[in-house]
Amino acid sequence: MGLKFTPTPEQSNSNEIDDDLSNFFRKIRLREYYYQTNYTNDSVVKNSSNFCPPNGRNEALDNYISTTKILCSNALKEPKSIKHNISLEQRKALRSLANDKSIIIKEADKGGGIVIMNVDFYKKKTLEMLDDNEYYQEIPTSNKNEVFSKIKSLINKNGKLTKHEIDYLLKFESKTSTFYGLPKIHKCQSIQKKCKDFKSRYVEVLDPDDLAFRPIVAGPICETSRLSSLADQLLKPFLTLIPSYVRDDIDFLNFIPKQVSDQTKLVSFDIVSLYTNIPHDLGIEAISYWLSKNPELLGSRFDKMFIIESLKIILENNIFVFNNKYYNQRKGTAMGTKVAPTYATLVLAYLETILYKRLQEEDNAFALYVKQNWKRYLDDCFIFWERPIEDLIRFEKILNSLHKDIQFKMQVSDTELPFLDILLIKKDKHIITDIFYKVTDSKQYLNFSSCHPKHTKINVPFSLARRICTIVGNKTILKQRLSELANILIKRQYPKEVIKTGLKKALEIPRHQLLCVKKKSHEQILPFISTHNPKNKNVFGIVKQNLQICNNDTKMKNIISDTKIINCKRQLPNLKRFLIKSEFKEQHHQPKVSKCNDIRCGLCDYLIEGAYFTTKSNMTFHVKQNMNCSVENVLYALRCNGCDEIYIGQTGDKLRNRRTVHEQQMRDPSARKIPLSGHLDTCCKSEPKFSIFPFYKFNCVDASARLSKEKFFITIFKPKLNIKL
Ligand SMILES: [Zn+2]
Ligand SMILES: [Zn+2]
Repeated sequence: MGLKFTPTPEQSNSNEIDDDLSNFFRKIRLREYYYQTNYTNDSVVKNSSNFCPPNGRNEALDNYISTTKILCSNALKEPKSIKHNISLEQRKALRSLANDKSIIIKEADKGGGIVIMNVDFYKKKTLEMLDDNEYYQEIPTSNKNEVFSKIKSLINKNGKLTKHEIDYLLKFESKTSTFYGLPKIHKCQSIQKKCKDFKSRYVEVLDPDDLAFRPIVAGPICETSRLSSLADQLLKPFLTLIPSYVRDDIDFLNFIPKQVSDQTKLVSFDIVSLYTNIPHDLGIEAISYWLSKNPELLGSRFDKMFIIESLKIILENNIFVFNNKYYNQRKGTAMGTKVAPTYATLVLAYLETILYKRLQEEDNAFALYVKQNWKRYLDDCFIFWERPIEDLIRFEKILNSLHKDIQFKMQVSDTELPFLDILLIKKDKHIITDIFYKVTDSKQYLNFSSCHPKHTKINVPFSLARRICTIVGNKTILKQRLSELANILIKRQYPKEVIKTGLKKALEIPRHQLLCVKKKSHEQILPFISTHNPKNKNVFGIVKQNLQICNNDTKMKNIISDTKIINCKRQLPNLKRFLIKSEFKEQHHQPKVSKCNDIRCGLCDYLIEGAYFTTKSNMTFHVKQNMNCSVENVLYALRCNGCDEIYIGQTGDKLRNRRTVHEQQMRDPSARKIPLSGHLDTCCKSEPKFSIFPFYKFNCVDASARLSKEKFFITIFKPKLNIKL
């Protein structure tokens, strides 16, 4: 089915849409609040704010919101019944696959295939990588606090960051990166051979010893993740200084010469494990070079020191967890960190400046030729070679002498060679371009029966055809590739008519237009974002049509005419989300809540122990971390021992102290702030009158994160004692 395939959900999500609607209304309120004020924000990055302008500012707007709310809630009352796109057996099979602890499922490094491995095989292969002390080092803890204090002292040294920027860098719920390997089946001889021999969709290879993995350190919210995206934003402008920089396929297609000579050779270079092989000192040297050369690109608030120190923190604290053990990557950059591609591109561009200089020392014309023709996208390089073959041999030598850790692997051809997704074919004096698929490319296009919004699916044939039309210039090849595409799409259950329309639409666009770089539009866009679920009535129509109500008010009318309202859909979990987990953890012990057993502890007698706690209404809280009485920054469930109903609360303080506050408010009516206290006092006749189960622990003090998670759990669990009595 392919990993993008999304099974029809079991339930409607009308509750969730309430939040989506509130969010949308908040955005309109913000538009009204800030309309035509010169509100500017100098911050390069910032946390998203929760500010919502109050109602009562604009009658038409309030009217719109209240009317739309009622209409939507009526529309959502009855979920539609929808036929499942997979059978009950298939659903059961998926669940058992996801729960099977003896296997691990990963996406292939390239080509979109799915690789199912024996857990022991995967663990052995991964540990082989992690045991390499040149690259990785095991450390006792995650060093969370140390990393944050390094970032803090960097902020203090710079002194020019805005409050928004400082909050962005420090105030967020971080999580240590995880490590995993993506099987490089496209580079594994035994698997490649099997794929070629058995053209079937399922190929089995026993213990392929030559299967290598691409190491990935994934930390979308690790401690340095925010610093990394700030550094990325500040370094991106420097990419425009690089002569060899290729942005994408289209950029390269535009560069291909109309005509070449008879002796022209196609030459590509692949850089061996680029990310993991850049030594930190080379990286720092390279970035310093670019920052000193064009300091104006950095703006006035950030200086060279800030960028260099940021990069050092990111590179030196590349900490991750694998199977409950912590490691630090000693060499190279993590593939997952935001700044990695920009950083690697700039480092290589620095080596290229040395390359041009070396060539110039030998021969000016040679240097100029290379500078004008050498193209690179990250670690893939290409050059049309029109100079004598001896020069090429010399060139390769110089390339590989630039730095001992950065090695270029050359491929030369007189006839054809791939670069990115393009297959370049030399015919007479012309270069013909074809689309390039690797042997292991599984062409896992989205299945038409997948639970996606219809417009997304209808668009698939068009966008695939459009890509083919962009890359393939030759009419005969184009016809063949499009008919191949049509055949694949038929197998993926696309209706013939949908395919035909998509292909036709793509063919109607003139090629020069396809090869144009798209300009970003400056239209004000206000998206209504909701999770796609065919069981819910689509409320976007109501949201949009009702906007007419606002037309009675001049200000609102102007706001609406300036704004394009669009319907955006979040995707439901697809098979990838179901089956593939980045984290690898052999479960030795389940995390649980336990008493501290200190005789002076005031909480022990109140604490509910265990890995989970099930409420009276049969809902269960599971804990993800070990917690005891000293835990702080938590969400907790408080159970009334009289009626067994619960209350959900949060505290930034120690849970032990929070228990004392509840106790005081219960005993002393004048100290009471919430109805719960009075309830506890009267409902239960024996001691202790209530019990506490902490179920969610935050790693840093952040009241707004706690409050919003608390709200989330209250919405889900609907605890009786949170509601006003
Ligand atoms: Zn205790
Ligand atoms: Zn009670």
